[in-house]
Amino acid sequence: MTDFPILKIRSDFPILSQMVYGKPVAYLDNGATTQKPIRMIEAIDKIHREQNASIHRSVNFLSDKMTSLYEEARTTVQNFIGAPKTSQIIFTSGATGSINLVAFSFGESILKAGDEIILSTMEHHSNIVPWQMACERKGASLKIIPVTDIGELDIEAYKNLFSDRTRIVAVTHVSNVLGTINPVKEIVQIAHSHGVPILLDGAQAVQHEPVNVADLDCDFYAFSGHKIYGPTGIGVLYGKEEWLERLPPYQGGGDMIDQVTFEKTTYNVLPFKFEAGTTNFIGAIGMAESMNYLSSIGLENIQRYEQQLRDYAIQKLGAIPQLRMYGTSEHKAAVFSFILNNVHPYDTGLIIDKYGVAVRTGTHCAMPLMQRFGIHGTVRASFCFYNTMEEVDRLCDALNAVLDLMG
Ligand code: PLP
Repeated sequence: MTDFPILKIRSDFPILSQMVYGKPVAYLDNGATTQKPIRMIEAIDKIHREQNASIHRSVNFLSDKMTSLYEEARTTVQNFIGAPKTSQIIFTSGATGSINLVAFSFGESILKAGDEIILSTMEHHSNIVPWQMACERKGASLKIIPVTDIGELDIEAYKNLFSDRTRIVAVTHVSNVLGTINPVKEIVQIAHSHGVPILLDGAQAVQHEPVNVADLDCDFYAFSGHKIYGPTGIGVLYGKEEWLERLPPYQGGGDMIDQVTFEKTTYNVLPFKFEAGTTNFIGAIGMAESMNYLSSIGLENIQRYEQQLRDYAIQKLGAIPQLRMYGTSEHKAAVFSFILNNVHPYDTGLIIDKYGVAVRTGTHCAMPLMQRFGIHGTVRASFCFYNTMEEVDRLCDALNAVLDLMG
């Protein structure tokens, strides 16, 4: 069925050989966080053992070495997402940190009372709450793109949300609940046709398909290291130069300054203007290592294999009549949100865990989307390229066992 080197790939992830409740773990919670390849684990271990020193500020040998590795990591990220310049790559604490940065700096410098921000119904709380906070500070308001019954953005409704008070659009690339892959290029073009900048939340996209921010033409792109097989506490904000130059710093501290006096401080050049304090430099290097690992496999190959997994899961889950699926767009990642008959998602999750199948249950940090579908939560199985067709079978067998017990 596939020439994808799945056995080799699985052997690159030590945790996948874990047993839980006496069964090999079927880790299907990749939307929450991904597992780590050995070369990333070893790279970080080596730094802690042999190279650690603070970056940018010291003159010593180790510090010089760390600074080079950190800046090389920035170049790796630049190439990975097709950014024109390294100065457009800002290391943050994660997608949440990246979006908060833009929402705060944009909010403080651009937003005025009466202005409007367009979001969508399928946003993660990370791409709602920071904008809501900016609106509260400035007296602006949110306009929301509706989601259709199959879980797609209503693009006609989106077009009608623009007014002369619209200041920015912020939309997810891929839904963490429905798996819908949004037509982001078109969404960007529509925003730009109104002269409005756009932020894309790429937290569920960059690890699954090749992303080129220059081609997308988005103004900002945000994602997290831990969802792209890297460490926690690190993430990326890409921005167009004109915007990054224009926006004020988000946080003050070391490294983001040029000159400091008690009368006035001037700021560092990009990207350092937005990297206050000691950043998670080891995390950045680890994330770059994971990106290099993905590139060695090829994002196109990963995408193709995950599409095969997706199609197989659609067929197998579709054969369970008591399963109600949320998110049935044909433009979909291998992310499945569902409810079994009247079984509470939490119960489903707990029971299948005993079969070694790890999923997530609840609102998935997307309460407005739950409200849209009139539900309190779902079970979510989110696959990635180290998962197997056999794990799809194990999920379905475990779900059938839940139904035998409770359905
Ligand atoms: N955006 C989306 C679509 C997500 O799925 C997530 C995490 O699940 C986030 C943002 C927030 O990511 P993090 O918690 O890593 O900052």
